[in-house]
Amino acid sequence: MRTVYVNGEYLPENEATVSIFDRGFLFADGVYEVTSVLDGKLIDFPGHATRLQRSLDELEMANPVTAEELLAIHRELVARNDVGDGLVYLQITRGAADRDFAYPADATPTIVLFTQAKPGLADNPVAKTGIKVISIPDRRWGRRDIKTVQLLYPSMGKMAAKAEGADDAWMVEDGAVTEGTSNNAYIVKGNTIVTRHLGEEILHGITRAAVLRLAAEAQMKVEERSFTIEEARAADEAFVTSASTFVMPVVEIDGTPVGQGTPGPVAARLREIYLDESRKTAL
Ligand code: PMP
Repeated sequence: MRTVYVNGEYLPENEATVSIFDRGFLFADGVYEVTSVLDGKLIDFPGHATRLQRSLDELEMANPVTAEELLAIHRELVARNDVGDGLVYLQITRGAADRDFAYPADATPTIVLFTQAKPGLADNPVAKTGIKVISIPDRRWGRRDIKTVQLLYPSMGKMAAKAEGADDAWMVEDGAVTEGTSNNAYIVKGNTIVTRHLGEEILHGITRAAVLRLAAEAQMKVEERSFTIEEARAADEAFVTSASTFVMPVVEIDGTPVGQGTPGPVAARLREIYLDESRKTAL
């Protein structure tokens, strides 16, 4: 059985509880982060900690732990659960309060962390074959730069993809791709990597930031701008990035093969560079 962390305590998962009045449960009034673990070490941890603080600040939510405590809790959970490769999920909500739309003045934030073991996470065989995506309208709220726990629409998107025999959905707004249900979206045309510019319309992926920096360092050409599904279907390559999938090739969009319909060299190279570099800086 897993050991999880709840409000200052390490507990067996079946003894961990939160209030039915928790605003995370009643209002989705909470934020989260997901950090991957390779060889028992945290990947891109400072980036996730920084984005967590930004999400909290945007929602005027208190952070119940210091940055040092946060790292210590992550490490302790990885150790107690003997996670070699896997993920650490963190969730902070505004806490429990009598139900009212207005933020309570005095609620104590709830903090929960748990691990998921994923042996062989970096050697995921899907990276060799790629994933298929469908396009769906982006019907999420407008502040997607805040990493909130409102994940129902992305869940619906995943289900729509599965129903069509695909793996994931790319969301489209005003004719342009925003992002995947739980990842940032990219295309490659010629020698140029294209991914949507940052804004309130997408989550500022921590993997995205690292991959773009590494691509620039490797003298690869990057354009941060909107692109359409039609442009993506005509691209040479497509891929997504996230903490749990790193760099994952996309080989089909709405039934149309991308390029040769097999993972391309740019995605493969970026995946390799990203995994190499992030292992070196893992904590
Ligand atoms: N966009 C969305 C909507 C996501 O949920 C995620 C993953 N949490 C990402 C992008 C990728 O972000 P990161 O690289 O920080 O995991």
